[in-house]
Amino acid sequence: RSIKVDFGDRSYPIHIGSGLLQNIGERCVEAGFPVRSSLLVVSDTEVAPRYLPALEAALQQKGYTVYSHVIPAGEASKSLTVYEEVMTTAIQAGLDRHSAVLALGGGVVGDLAGFVAASYMRGIGFMQIPTTILAHDSSVGGKVAVNHPLAKNMIGAFYQPSMVLYDLNTLLTLPPRQVSSGLAEVVKHGLILDKEFAYWCREHAAELLGLNLEVLGYALERGCSIKADVIRNDEREQGVRAILNLGHTIGHAIEAVGGYGVLLHGEAISIGMAGSALLAAKLGRDKSIYEETVSMLSALSLPVRLPAHYDEDELMEAMMHDKKFKEGKMTFIVPDAIGSVSIVNDVQASLVREVIAQLKKEGS
Ligand code: NAD
Ligand code: ZN
Repeated sequence: RSIKVDFGDRSYPIHIGSGLLQNIGERCVEAGFPVRSSLLVVSDTEVAPRYLPALEAALQQKGYTVYSHVIPAGEASKSLTVYEEVMTTAIQAGLDRHSAVLALGGGVVGDLAGFVAASYMRGIGFMQIPTTILAHDSSVGGKVAVNHPLAKNMIGAFYQPSMVLYDLNTLLTLPPRQVSSGLAEVVKHGLILDKEFAYWCREHAAELLGLNLEVLGYALERGCSIKADVIRNDEREQGVRAILNLGHTIGHAIEAVGGYGVLLHGEAISIGMAGSALLAAKLGRDKSIYEETVSMLSALSLPVRLPAHYDEDELMEAMMHDKKFKEGKMTFIVPDAIGSVSIVNDVQASLVREVIAQLKKEGS
């Protein structure tokens, strides 16, 4: 399966299938990386031992000079400190304008390596090789970033890859919690734009959680296509792209307050999506949206309630730092129905506080 992300002369393909990594050398040529140039593979301590040696061997066999940098697994590595360490490797390796960075891993590796690719000598080649379900979202669309201790994804760029290469076989080693976390972004794409797909996810929850690669391949293709359609018309999030942030205002605050990685990204945005549906009810939308949303998320083994120890003031404070807060009002993506959302720009902070309290209350 292949999907094209359409950005004129910066368009790129997303290839999805089993065993694609076997032809990584040819794929790099197809992506436009000159043979005999240097490639820097960035990966993490969970992914590298499983998939890096074969990848390096295949690339060397094709004639590339291969360097690698392995970061500690986990959200904490999306930091300026680790960014600088990868830069040091790139400079010591003597990467030049013909070189490319390959991100072999989940969203953490992709976001960090992408920001390195975007900023090394003002931008060199970049390929995303996602190895998590969640990364179907992060690898498409060109948002790359590292976190600041005060706010997630605060330091970054828009930088499109030359190719996304999704080898489904790598997903078979994902721990169950990571599987669910990734499915949160999959069902999100249904919740914002495709009612049928959202219900399909609930129906196929068991196969998805059980890593049936046929079913999962379809889900990832659908998720990537929806995302590609949205960003094609709004690369830099001037407008409609914001709908992809469903659940993320509350979700990012949960991640920042709880400590990055305590709740996984998908878990945090799952609670955030339940919160958006509660907010929708407060803004007059049908209460059944909340019930359906919760049922879909729960079917995918995702949390929909906020653990009681999260402090409301700290969460509100974290949301103020978030980019989605403008001129005293909060911007929220609010569901109008399953499969359709609105961008609401003037949500009262007090209403959000009520939602958070309710998310906690239902949790204790
Ligand atoms: P991750 O990269 O931390 O991966 C999750 C965990 O799974 C890690 O411990 C990793 O080592 C491990 N892992 C990865 N692949 C594996 C495999 N095949 N087998 C076994 N273990 C494996 O996290 P993630 O959930 O992939 O991504 C989350 C990040 O993505 C967050 O930082 C989030 O902000 C970001 N994100 C970015 C965008 C974007 O548009 N750029 C969109 C959504 C999310
Ligand atoms: Zn996300």
